[in-house]
Amino acid sequence: MTDRIPSAPRQTAARRPVDLRLRDWREVHEDFAADRLERQAGRCMDCGVPFCHLGCPLSNLIPEWNDLVRTGRWQEAADRLHATNNFPEFTGRLCPAPCESACVLGINADPVAIKQVEVAIADRALERGWEAPIRPPAGARAAGRRVAVVGSGPAGLAAAQQLTRAGHRVTVYERADAPGGLLRYGIPEFKLEKRWLDRRLDQLRAEGTSFECGVHVGADLTAARLRDRSDAVVLACGARVPRGLPVPGADLPGIYQAMDYLTLANREVAGLGNPAADVAAASAAGRHVVVIGGGDTGADCLGTALRQGAASVTQLEIMPQPPRQRPDGQPWPLYPMIYRVSSAHEEGGERVYAVSTQRFLAGQDGRVRVLVLADADLADGRVTVRPGTEREVRCDLVLLAMGFTGAEDGELLRGLGLGLDERGRVPRGDDYATSTAGVFVAGDMGRGQSLIVWAIAEGRSAAAAADRYLAGDSALPAPIRASAAPISLRARL
Ligand SMILES: Cc1cc2nc3c(=O)[nH]c(=O)nc-3n(C[C@H](O)[C@H](O)[C@H](O)COP(=O)(O)OP(=O)(O)OC[C@H]3O[C@@H](n4cnc5c(N)ncnc54)[C@H](O)[C@@H]3O)c2cc1C
Ligand code: SF4
Repeated sequence: MTDRIPSAPRQTAARRPVDLRLRDWREVHEDFAADRLERQAGRCMDCGVPFCHLGCPLSNLIPEWNDLVRTGRWQEAADRLHATNNFPEFTGRLCPAPCESACVLGINADPVAIKQVEVAIADRALERGWEAPIRPPAGARAAGRRVAVVGSGPAGLAAAQQLTRAGHRVTVYERADAPGGLLRYGIPEFKLEKRWLDRRLDQLRAEGTSFECGVHVGADLTAARLRDRSDAVVLACGARVPRGLPVPGADLPGIYQAMDYLTLANREVAGLGNPAADVAAASAAGRHVVVIGGGDTGADCLGTALRQGAASVTQLEIMPQPPRQRPDGQPWPLYPMIYRVSSAHEEGGERVYAVSTQRFLAGQDGRVRVLVLADADLADGRVTVRPGTEREVRCDLVLLAMGFTGAEDGELLRGLGLGLDERGRVPRGDDYATSTAGVFVAGDMGRGQSLIVWAIAEGRSAAAAADRYLAGDSALPAPIRASAAPISLRARL
C-alpha cells in the first residue's frame, strides 16, 4: 500500500541496452518492479472528472485500477481492467496511450504512466492464472445462435470472445495460417512477443470459440455458404490494401510493400518457414535499406531491418519534422502530433524529413540500387517539390510504408451485397449493421486503418449489436458508436 503522491516523478520501464536487444527479437522493455509500479499508480489523483476516460476509446476505468494497484489489490485491479478491455496485454504494450495525453496531471506535470500500470496488471493476471476461461451462463449456450466472424485481428477476436461469452456458437474464419491479424504478422516480436497472443487465444478456445484458419472467405468458402452456416456475420477483415508509389522504377526487384516484408520477417522469427529464395531476396542483411514512410509501420520496418543486420537504414518522410513540444493548436487534452522517438529509432538509422521520392534506378543485376529524392515543401496542405534539390541515395532494399488505402474489394463483399465507400471502408450504420441484414462490420474494415484499442472497442460494440440482432436484446457492453471519433477530432467538431 503506498500513499497517493501526484508529485512523485513519472517512471516507466527501462528499455534494454540497444546493443543487447539488437541481437535478439525479444521485447525491448525490462520488467518493472511491482513496488515501483504501485508508487506510479499512486500518482493518479482520482480526479472528479477523469479526462483519461475520454482519451481511451474503451473507456477503461483508469482511476479505479490505479487505486487498486496502489493499495496492492492486484487481482481486483485485473477484474476492473478486463471489465472494459478483452486484451490489455496488447494495448498495454502497443497503444499510443491517448489516455495519457488527456491525463489531468499532464496539464502542468508528467502524466500518470497509465499504460505501464495496464500492462503490469494484464501480465500478472495471465501469469498467475487469474484469466480463467469465462463460460456463458447456464442454459445460454442452448439458446445461442451460430455466428461467423471473418478475420482474427483484434476486432474479430474481441467480437468473437464477447459473443461466445454471451452463449453463441462462434466460428472465426481466418485467411492466414494462424489467428491474430496484424498482431501476429504485422507487428514485430520486439514490440509484442507472440506468446502473449497465443496465451489469449488459448483462453478463447477454452471458452468455446472455434477457429478455422487457412480459409479465405469469398474464395475457399463462398459468401453464400458462409451465410448458410451462420445466423449472423461479423466482418473484421482489416484495411490491408497498401498505398502504392507511382514513380518510375517502383516495380524493380528489391522494392517491397512493408506488410510483405514484415510478414516474411515475422514468419521467420516464429520458425514458420518461408521459401528460401523469398527470404534471401527480402532480407536486410548487409544491405542499404530505405524505408519510405515516417510512421509506425516504417519504424517497425526499421527495427526489423536493424535486427536482420542492415548495413544502413534511412527512413524518409514527405512531411516536415513535427515539433518536440505540444503545439499551441493542440492543447491538453488532445493527442498531440509531436516528434516521437520509438524504440526502433533509438536503435539506429537516420530519419530524413520533407523529401519526396522521384524515381528508382536499377543496378547491373537489375535490382534496385539508387533512389532519387528531392526536397518537398508543404504549403496550404499541399506538398510541392523544390526544383534543383534532386539527389541520390544508395539502396539495395526499399520498403514502402506509406499507409493503406482501405479494405479489399472482392468476392466476399460482392457475395454479401456490399461494397466500399470513397475512403475504402465498408459502409455501416452507427450500430455497426451493414445494409445486408445480419451482417456487421468492425475494426479497420469499417473505420479505416486505425489502432488496436479502436479495433477492440469496435469488436466489443459490434458484438453487442449482433447479439441484439440475434436475441432481441443484449447485456453486452458497447463502448463506442461506429461514428465515434478520437478525442482530438471530437473536440473540434
Ligand atoms: C505494421 C503495423 C504496425 C502497427 N502497430 C500498431 C501499434 O503499435 N499500435 C496500435 O495500436 N496499432 C498498430 N497498428 C494498427 C493495428 O494493428 C490495426 O489497427 C489493427 O490490427 C486492426 O485490427 P482489425 O482486427 O480490424 O484488422 P487486422 O488486424 O488487419 O486483421 C484482419 C484479419 O482479417 C483476415 N482476413 C482478411 N480478409 C479475409 C477473408 N476474406 N477471409 C478470411 N480472413 C480474412 C486477415 O488475414 C487478418 O488476419 C499497426 C499496423 C501495422 C500495419
Ligand atoms: S487502451 Fe490505450 S488509451 Fe486505453 S487506457 Fe490503455 S493505453 Fe490508455
